[in-house]
Formats: sequence, C-alpha cells, structure tokens
Amino acid sequence: MKPEPKAKKEVSKVTVPTYYGEAHATCACGAEFKVGSTMEKIEMEICSQCHPLYTGNEKSMDTAGRVERFRARTALAKPKAKAK
Ligand SMILES: [Zn+2]
Repeated sequence: MKPEPKAKKEVSKVTVPTYYGEAHATCACGAEFKVGSTMEKIEMEICSQCHPLYTGNEKSMDTAGRVERFRARTALAKPKAKAK
C-alpha cells in the first residue's frame, strides 16, 4: 500500500531535526558561546574554557558543585559514625 502524502511529511519531520546555526551553549563555569546544533539551548558541565586538557591545569575545576555535594554527604554521614 502506498503511504499517504501527509504521513510521509510527518516522518521526514522526525528523522530530519531542526538545525540551529546559532545554538546558545552555556557551561557551568560561566562560559557562553554559540555553536551549530540540533538543540536550541545547550547546558554543559565542562567546556573548552574549563576542561583541564585545554587549560593545562591538572586539577579539574569543580564546576557543577560535585565537591560541595560530596562534602554535604560526608557531613551527614559523620554524626552517624560517631554514635556507634
Ligand atoms: Zn566551561
């Protein structure tokens, strides 16, 4: 059976996503730049401005608050350990 022209159009819409030539990309370090993407807005934890490979620093920046979250977890765990 031959597919309906309407159905054909819907399929092409799904398989060919919209391309944003100037997608707004923001990084957790505060860097903002425009890139070509199929997503209008991009949020990332690390970019070329803060990645150790580009910065040359061996220690990576705590951009997404991972260290703070870890400290909060260990702070919660400490009173429990003392009670034992
Ligand atoms: Zn960054």
